[in-house]
Amino acid sequence: MTNFIPYGRQWIDEGDIQAVIEVLRSDWLTTGPKVDEFEQAVANAVGSQYGVAVSSGTAALHTAMYAIDIKRGDEVIVPTMTFAATANAVVFQGGTPVFSDVEEKMLLIDISQIEKKITSRTKAIIAVDYAGQPCDYDELKKITDKHKLTLIADACHALGATYKGHKVGSLAELNIFSFHPVKHITTGEGGMVTTENPEYARRMKMFRNHCMNSDYRQREEKGNWFYEVVDLGYNYRITDFQCALGISQFKKLPRRIKRRQEIAAVYNEAFARNEFIIPLSVNPEITHAYHLYIVRLKLDNIKKSKQQIFTDLRNAGIGVNVHYIPVHLHSYYRKKFNASEGMFPVSEKAFYEILSLPIFPDMSDEDVQRVVSETTKAVGGA
Ligand SMILES: *Cc1c(COP(=O)(O)O)cnc(C)c1O
Repeated sequence: MTNFIPYGRQWIDEGDIQAVIEVLRSDWLTTGPKVDEFEQAVANAVGSQYGVAVSSGTAALHTAMYAIDIKRGDEVIVPTMTFAATANAVVFQGGTPVFSDVEEKMLLIDISQIEKKITSRTKAIIAVDYAGQPCDYDELKKITDKHKLTLIADACHALGATYKGHKVGSLAELNIFSFHPVKHITTGEGGMVTTENPEYARRMKMFRNHCMNSDYRQREEKGNWFYEVVDLGYNYRITDFQCALGISQFKKLPRRIKRRQEIAAVYNEAFARNEFIIPLSVNPEITHAYHLYIVRLKLDNIKKSKQQIFTDLRNAGIGVNVHYIPVHLHSYYRKKFNASEGMFPVSEKAFYEILSLPIFPDMSDEDVQRVVSETTKAVGGA
């Protein structure tokens, strides 16, 4: 097969490689100075006080659940149109994810349905900036303030995006990022939580290191051996060479976002008059980070099934994907939380219709044109 275009892909340059090598030659491979430097770089840039870097976006979500002390019986409202890790993190701490549907234009959590899900056990809402488009944080905040809940942003798709001029990473009380290779910047595996709250930051730094009340570097510096395990924590540490890669990658974020936006603009233009494809809507008050470029297929007008369109595009070398299978439809959630089809009709219909088209910063203009022409052909257009 000629030249397969994946849906997403990292971009590593020589500067990134040199940054990693430098750390490999240094004294600190983990829990060293690059971790602090990476945390400060990201927190400063997004306008937040603290950054806590961990070993994955999933670990970051789990760590945020620990920060707000989620326990057995606690409920956290989560949209079903997300990656399973958003809901899993609640379950890791013994809590119950309460699923919510999304609205149909942007596939963001349907704010009008949130209040009827709130009970005396509700502790937090996790908003997901699906595809890279920030949710309506002003409206979400009204609800969390009124009911004294914590607002959390799963911003794994939205590093570099803004809402009403404010940067993602400073919009919720806890903001979660992932540095998996398909995301905007990568550390191989990695994640971070940003927050303004010093107590949350302290708890999270402890949690990623077995809930020990001092780390190895602090003990070395003080010349003592004493530490205490004060709660149940995990090893969610990220290495210094990963953080060096993260620092180097993060410097290029604005350029990379700009390129993603350019590619999205070409797709928007190309599909604007296509009777078989509808791109997702964009709120004019935000800037979009385009982790994903999602289209809905008007399957009623198309002679092929979605599976056939998917297979035809894959055979043409276009790495289309589907983000996501609504979380409540996974067998684990069906069994454990009594979830079933029909509970969240907007998400379920969207799941049936959506396709993610390739979008990543070093896609060439020819690649973008190839995706446009193959997609147009696959749905039965010109
Ligand atoms: C990628 C992602 C995660 C998990 O991040 P990992 O780094 O892969 O653990 C969580 N939530 C969403 C919405 C994501 O896209």
